[in-house]
Formats: sequence, C-alpha cells, structure tokens
Amino acid sequence: MGWDALSLVEVADDRPAIERRSVVRGMFYETQARTVIEKVPAASGITQHWAISPYRGCAHACRGCAARGGHRRLGLDAGRDFDTRIVVKANAVERLRAELRRFPAAPVAIGLGGDCYQEAERTYLLMPGIIAALSRAAVPFTVYTKSPLVLRDAALLAEAGAQVAVSIAFVDEKIRRSVEPGAVGAQARLELVSALVEAGVSCHVLMAPVLPLLSDGADQLAATVRRIASAGASGVRAVVLRLPPGTREWYLEWLGRQHPGLVERYAELYDRGGVPSAGYEERITGQIAQLAARYGMAPVPQPSPRDPAADQLALV
Ligand code: SF4
Repeated sequence: MGWDALSLVEVADDRPAIERRSVVRGMFYETQARTVIEKVPAASGITQHWAISPYRGCAHACRGCAARGGHRRLGLDAGRDFDTRIVVKANAVERLRAELRRFPAAPVAIGLGGDCYQEAERTYLLMPGIIAALSRAAVPFTVYTKSPLVLRDAALLAEAGAQVAVSIAFVDEKIRRSVEPGAVGAQARLELVSALVEAGVSCHVLMAPVLPLLSDGADQLAATVRRIASAGASGVRAVVLRLPPGTREWYLEWLGRQHPGLVERYAELYDRGGVPSAGYEERITGQIAQLAARYGMAPVPQPSPRDPAADQLALV
C-alpha cells in the first residue's frame, strides 16, 4: 500500500471527547478552555448568575453534586468519572483576563463545576491568579468550597473583599461519610469557617444540599445552624438537593441501595428536571432562615428570578 492509500485509512478514535483535546496526567485532564465565565443554570439555587470553574469534576465525590451532568457533555460518565477524572482548565487565568475586558462586573460564583480548592489546586495553583484578575477588574465574587486549602489564599481573599461560602449541609458524620466521602468532615469545615473569619475573610455557610428525609429533620437543622453560628459565620442559606440528569441516576442508585424505603417519596418530591417541589423547598429554607435569626445570623440574599431559556452551562 502506497502513501496515498495510507492517508485515506481512518483510525478509529473512541476516546472520550475531552481526552482527545487534553494532556492526560494521571487523574487530571489538562485542557485549554475556550471560555471560563459561564452562565449559572437558573434552577441551581445559587445567587450569582455567572460562574468560573477552573476544575470540572471533583474528588470530594458528593453523591448529590448538581454538576455531575457536565461530565457527560465531555464524553465521560457522571458517576465515578466525575469523582476521578478531573478536567483542569490550564489556561483559566489567561482566558479570564481576556474575558474580563468585556465582562460587565456582575457577581461571580467560583467552584460550582468542581471544588476550586480540591486537591488538584495544590498542583495547578490557579486560584491566586483568578483572585488577582477578578480583584483587578473590580468584579465581586464568592468562592464555594468544602476544602481547608482555601486558607492558603485567605490574605488574598480578604484583600479582594471576596465572600467565601463554606458548604456544610449537616453535622452528622455518618451521613457525611456516606454522601460526601472525599470531603473533610463537618467539624473540620466549622473550624475552617472560624479560621477564615479570624483571617478577616467575609464568610457565610451554604447549607447545601439539604437531603430530603435524611438531613432535614427539625432537630438536625437546628443542630447544624447552631454550630454554624458558634463557628462565627456571618449568615447561612440553604439549598435543597437538586437532581438534574446525571446527578439523578447516581444519587437514586445510591438511595435505592442504602435507603430503598425512600425511593418512592423522592419520586413524589422531584419533577423530571430535578427540582424539588416548591412547597418543600420553601418550608426548609423558611425553617433555616428562622433558625439563623434565632442564633443571631444575618440573612443571606436568595437567588433572583431569571430566564431559564438562557441557562446552559458552557463547555470547557
Ligand atoms: S465539593 Fe462541591 S463541587 Fe465537589 S463534589 Fe461536592 S458538591 Fe460537587
């Protein structure tokens, strides 16, 4: 066979789409992102309308993580792959600087597609550059995390006037080990809140996700809010579990194994888009707002209504 014939032979490449455009180093897929500022889905329960996720996928492996579906769009699965194959936007700082030239300085959430202070950040060190770029552009931002590594950047965050929202949905370690196996325990996160406040960082707690019928008992909510207040958080806000495609299958598979008696109740509570019934969510957020007031914490703003049509998160 001559060279001409050889050039016509197509080699089948069945690797995931993201792998074809990444440098793979162990569990990390280093890629060059086309965009880094993304639209936040309206149904997310998050206050900000814009987000930056330097990492996609998350070694914290939370069963109910609402970002899981993003891995499917990259050709990976939303279950184990999301926990173990972490996409790193290696050019995140450089892209962000370019995009900020045209960005209207609206509030931005950081770390929704994967915790921005998960272990990968020790290797890639993207956050200091992101904080500096946002700060220079006077863009207000909130960092969402469960990781004590955020303390490394406490001075930068304090200087930038950033908000940190530490995620603590419950203080029951048995539930935490089962649904957030890769994250540090609630006590370590409460200590993280205290340390951030001590370092001059504005810090509140996102009770997310509250798990229906598992972590939503009146006593459980009260115990969690009381300890959040004792840790020194400025406020607390709740988001009830979302089950969008990807998250839904992974979470319900676990629920069926661990709590088969609850599967039917979840089917009644959630619509096909993965949003909990409005009555249920209102009841839980109302209870938590009352508890926050009882323990002397300020209200944290709720998300404002938006057009769900403009909602698809961009790909890397
Ligand atoms: S820490 Fe956040 S981003 Fe990471 S798996 Fe848990 S919910 Fe998802």
